[in-house]
Amino acid sequence: MMNQQLVEELEKTIENIPNFPKEGIQFKDITPIFLNPQLYKDVIHDLAAFSRDKIDVVCGIESRGYLFGIAIAVALDVPFILIRKQGKLPPPFLGQKYDLEYGSAEIEMRTGQLKPGQRVLIHDDLLATGGTTEAAALLVEKQGGVVSQFSFLIALKDLAGEERLKKFNAEVHQILSY
Ligand code: AMP
Repeated sequence: MMNQQLVEELEKTIENIPNFPKEGIQFKDITPIFLNPQLYKDVIHDLAAFSRDKIDVVCGIESRGYLFGIAIAVALDVPFILIRKQGKLPPPFLGQKYDLEYGSAEIEMRTGQLKPGQRVLIHDDLLATGGTTEAAALLVEKQGGVVSQFSFLIALKDLAGEERLKKFNAEVHQILSY
C-alpha cells in the first residue's frame, strides 16, 4: 500500500474521543486497527521499512508501544526490549523519572538485555509532549545504548514532542500527524 493510502485508511480507522480521559484531551483510539489484519500488516510494513538495517534493537514503551513494537522487531529479525511502568519488572532494572502535568512518573527497563553500543529504535503508538519518550531515551543512554530512531503511529504536533527529542540526534518517523 502506498503511504498516502495508508494515511487515509488510518485516518478513517483511528477514532477521536473528545475529553477522555479528562476534559480537553482528544484521545486517539487505535484499537480499531486490530479489527483489520491487512491494515495492521500495512502499518508494520511501513514502520519496519523506516528502521530496516538501521537498528539492532527495538525498545517498546508500555503498553501500546508493545502492540506494534514486537511486530516491528520480528519483521526486522532483531530483539525487542520492554520499557515498563514502575513496579512491574523484577530486578535487576534501571529507572528513569519524568514529569507529568501533575507530579511525576517513572519507567523501568531490565538491565543486561541491551548491550552497550547497540543502535536502538524507541517505539510508541503516539507522541504527545514527548515526556515518556524522552525518559525512555535517557534510560537507553544510561545503559550505553545509542538512540538511533524514534517511531510512532501518530504525533500530535501542537504538543511539540519532536522538539523535545531533538537533543538525541535521532531520526523520527510518524505515519500520521494531527
Ligand atoms: P507523552 O509523554 O506526553 O508524549 O505521552 C505519550 C503517551 O501517552 C503515549 O504512550 C500515548 O499512548 C499516551 N497519550 C498521550 N496523549 C494521548 C492521546 N491524545 N490519545 C491517546 N494516547 C495518548
